[in-house]
Amino acid sequence: MNAKIEVAALSKSFGDHQVLRSVDLLVAPGEVVALIGPSGSGKSTLLRCLNLLVTPDGGRVRVGAQSLDFGTSRALPGTAALAKFRATTGMVFQQFNLFPHKTVLGNVMEGPLTVRRMARAEAEPLARGLLAKVGLADKADQYPSRLSGGQKQRVAIARALAMQPEIMLFDEATSALDPELVGEVLNVMRELAAEGMTMVIVTHEIAFAREVADRVVFLRDGVIMEDGPARQVIDSPREEATRAFLSHFH
Ligand code: ADP
Ligand code: MG
Repeated sequence: MNAKIEVAALSKSFGDHQVLRSVDLLVAPGEVVALIGPSGSGKSTLLRCLNLLVTPDGGRVRVGAQSLDFGTSRALPGTAALAKFRATTGMVFQQFNLFPHKTVLGNVMEGPLTVRRMARAEAEPLARGLLAKVGLADKADQYPSRLSGGQKQRVAIARALAMQPEIMLFDEATSALDPELVGEVLNVMRELAAEGMTMVIVTHEIAFAREVADRVVFLRDGVIMEDGPARQVIDSPREEATRAFLSHFH
């Protein structure tokens, strides 16, 4: 099996609330999967299990070459193994979480300098290149407070890419933006997808999911209710639950 992401029998509870119920998910290299579902259905928890911001209770997670089995042993890996696992994915959140006291360039260079121990002479051109890629080359010396939400989110994407992840995870990356700023962030995501980045995108932008994602996965109450080609799931869902959820967006 040469999937880029492999999730098997993944379960997670918070107290006595089971949030993920034996979730299975395969994502092929270069595939873009949109994860949709009602609020509280477990989308963020599933995404966070892929980079171990949340520790699963059971099941198996593999991202790239990094694999962890939570079924047989609940022991967490050591710090080095954990860091390696996490470095496989880059994550973009609804809140941008930029360092306010660092410039845009400083934000993008921070990971390469401190985590990857990259030399400044190497990290700076990398960061500048990524800022150009997200259309913000001219903002390198600005502080985040001077940027619009859409610009901040594009910096956050550049910052995640600076760690050179194999997989990008987006958790409602446009939900906190004013409507007129959503497009510029979706454009960057669309470009990444076109370049062949493997991506899992939690989104309420159904039209974007239909256009950009290869597959749409519908999660409800911690269960994958439907998983299929994006246009099929969105235009003609097989499951009544998917149809009911999508009807809120028309
Ligand atoms: P979604 O992203 O689909 O809205 P989440 O994965 O954020 O859903 O949350 C799923 C359920 O798990 C919700 O009921 C939420 O309240 C609960 N939950 C999420 N994170 C925690 C946590 N750290 N502690 C307790 N409950 C949590
Ligand atoms: Mg969420």
